[in-house]
Amino acid sequence: MRPGFSMKNIVVLSGAGISAESGIRTFRDGDGLWRTHRFQDLATPQAWEKNPHLVLEFYNERRKQLFEVQPNEGHKALVRLEQHFITDIVTQNVDDLHERAGSGRVLHLHGELKKARSTKNPNLVYTLDNWELKWGDKCEEGSQLRPHIVWFGEAVPNIGLAIQIVRQADIMIVVGTSLQVYPAAGLLDYAKNSIPVYLVDPKAEAPYYMKNVVTIREKAGIGLPKLVDELIEKYG
Ligand code: NAD
Repeated sequence: MRPGFSMKNIVVLSGAGISAESGIRTFRDGDGLWRTHRFQDLATPQAWEKNPHLVLEFYNERRKQLFEVQPNEGHKALVRLEQHFITDIVTQNVDDLHERAGSGRVLHLHGELKKARSTKNPNLVYTLDNWELKWGDKCEEGSQLRPHIVWFGEAVPNIGLAIQIVRQADIMIVVGTSLQVYPAAGLLDYAKNSIPVYLVDPKAEAPYYMKNVVTIREKAGIGLPKLVDELIEKYG
């Protein structure tokens, strides 16, 4: 860090697009999961009530795939930021690729695929050591375990913490998210006025109301390493 400068705080808001190059499908692109599956049948409390076997199978498939994929150059580039800046990642992703790349401060807004929790006591959360969560797998209090995922229609318990993190940002990077799922998409509204915001997404569109936005229309694996070099050169 240069003398006389205090360490800048960078907050990264990531979405499914950052994991696309690792081989995990996004939700809303042409080949996205919600083009071939109805989220109402799989990712809602009603779906769980109606057909828990189908819901378990859907998440088991996703989890199985997660054990087979690796972090990509985009995830790895963000790890380098930590050597120069206070870096927080707020992710909508349920994969663990940021952590496996080596990022230290990762807040998951929509849950974590490799975890299960009790259907009765939400404080009982377990890390799974293999991909399969079965009907009949129970918590220590004897209730069925469900995927530790925030489903459509459920509250987002970490949103308050995410707002606090975004309020501290001196610079924001938004990568691989269509900014369509609330409340996550509204997080940008809490950033300090006119801080630099970098959008990295092949389809990036700057929100009309935001000043100081730089759009980088590239895949995360290409755009992020370049952006990280630039930020280290400019502010690190
Ligand atoms: P989304 O599918 O709505 O949008 C994905 C965005 O990524 C699009 O804007 C697309 O242009 C962009 N993109 C595609 N390939 C890219 C690449 N190589 N580099 C950079 N950007 C790329 O996803 P979202 O906005 O994250 O939607 C939120 C929901 O999707 C969340 O609920 C999240 O939990 C869920 N989700 C998570 C995963 C995961 O954990 N990996 C995967 C699919 C969906």
